[in-house]
Amino acid sequence: MSDYKLWISGKPVDGAAEMSVLNPATEEPFATIARSDKTLVDEAIASAGAAQKMWAKTPITERQAVLTKIADALNARNEEIARILTTEQGKPIMESTAEVAYTEAFIRYFATMDLAVEVVQDDATKRVEVHRRPLGVVACIIPWNFPLLIAAFKVPLALLAGNGCVLKPAPTTPVTGAIFAEICADILPAGLVNTVNDENDLGAYLTGHPGVAKVSFTGSTETGKKVMASAAGTLKRLTLELGGNDPAIVLPDVDVKETAAKMYAAAFMNCGQVCLALKRAYVHESIYHEMCEELASLANATIVGDGLDPKTQLGPLNNKMQYEKVKGFLANARQVGQIVAGGDVPEGRGYFITPTIVCDVRDGDEIVDLEQFGPIMPLIKFSCIDDVLARVNRLNFGLGASVWSNDLDKAKEIAMQMESGTVWINTHLDFGPNIPFGGAKQSGIGVEFAQEGLYEFTQIQVINQAK
Ligand code: NAD
Repeated sequence: MSDYKLWISGKPVDGAAEMSVLNPATEEPFATIARSDKTLVDEAIASAGAAQKMWAKTPITERQAVLTKIADALNARNEEIARILTTEQGKPIMESTAEVAYTEAFIRYFATMDLAVEVVQDDATKRVEVHRRPLGVVACIIPWNFPLLIAAFKVPLALLAGNGCVLKPAPTTPVTGAIFAEICADILPAGLVNTVNDENDLGAYLTGHPGVAKVSFTGSTETGKKVMASAAGTLKRLTLELGGNDPAIVLPDVDVKETAAKMYAAAFMNCGQVCLALKRAYVHESIYHEMCEELASLANATIVGDGLDPKTQLGPLNNKMQYEKVKGFLANARQVGQIVAGGDVPEGRGYFITPTIVCDVRDGDEIVDLEQFGPIMPLIKFSCIDDVLARVNRLNFGLGASVWSNDLDKAKEIAMQMESGTVWINTHLDFGPNIPFGGAKQSGIGVEFAQEGLYEFTQIQVINQAK
């Protein structure tokens, strides 16, 4: 009997098999969870489809009230969920507590949103109204870096728009997803939120399934392309939030110490496993050396350890595959640049790598051009703005970016030339439920959050009445 079940038709259900969930700080299994097969995927989709038919008829005020109840339930269980999140994901307990609180805040904001009918023409000849109808069943596919928060980017807005959901967490972080589904099952009509747990083997089946109307996917660009291909057969609606390699351009007029602290936080949160983390810093040559030193001292002062220890500031990577990948980036950094802090892979158990600052690297180096998704920050030197703009824009990524300067007009002028869905000025990694979020180029398709994000879970229906 697994510790955690699947959720189908509002009930906990055994899997076709069982999977172990590891604690990345110890590499020991800490829970078992039910695993799906194709038949259980079919059941999850059928359950969402059946429940959605009634749900679509409920007034939006009822759906808003339900979201508020989900937020209340998360609030009541913050401490318990935060501990489980750290145990399965690895992040420091303070970050987990914040993730549960952010999830609650996002859902509370979503509960205030509406889908009003828009009248686009009303005259002597006709009245034309634009309605927003639900799509049906939405598959919500989640990565392992923010297993709770990213589920809450998708499921609540899908529900608010009148859809049913199938939630598929990542194989290494399924427990918080199961708890979220349990909370939903306690509050919602049976069957509206169902789960699929897999070992990276059921994604194609789920995203190709004729019973699914839309896929809302967050994950890597590579997998996003596969989702798009398998969704093509039935022309499913898609929102793809994919990988990023966010650049920062740091002008010579900044306060180096203050800027370094903000940049460091934006690069190393969640051990660098953040789609919008600052992943390559282009620093003006006149302050380059000072910036490298400042960041190195922040890295050296960081406490690395098990996230359950309240003193820990940087936990392990989430899983072995990512750990091996980041060790490869570290080897590349050592070869092509100069490691001025960190670069250690502590012996013993757990997927730990110390926070690493690498200087004297160049465009074209793997550590600069690829998404490292780990605790390594490369610093690249520049001297001319036009040249650096071309360099930051040359990659296929376009998720976030930032400009750092005391000259706000100049910073804005530069920001507007960066090819990214979000560009920050003097900050990085700031987002909210009222701010539309989406990637440019191969960092994604579509938008999450805000009214634009809610619309993505709907189908326009025009009612055109002749007079
Ligand atoms: P991943 O693409 O490997 O997996 C994401 C999810 O997709 C998992 O649930 C996985 O099981 C599932 N999946 C695997 N194969 C599938 C398939 N063929 N069809 C459908 N689903 C499939 O990504 P990951 O390693 O879990 O997460 C890290 C990546 O996610 C990074 O590239 C990161 O930048 C990106 N990310 C993006 C955002 C964003 O909002 N843009 C947010 C967080 C993470």
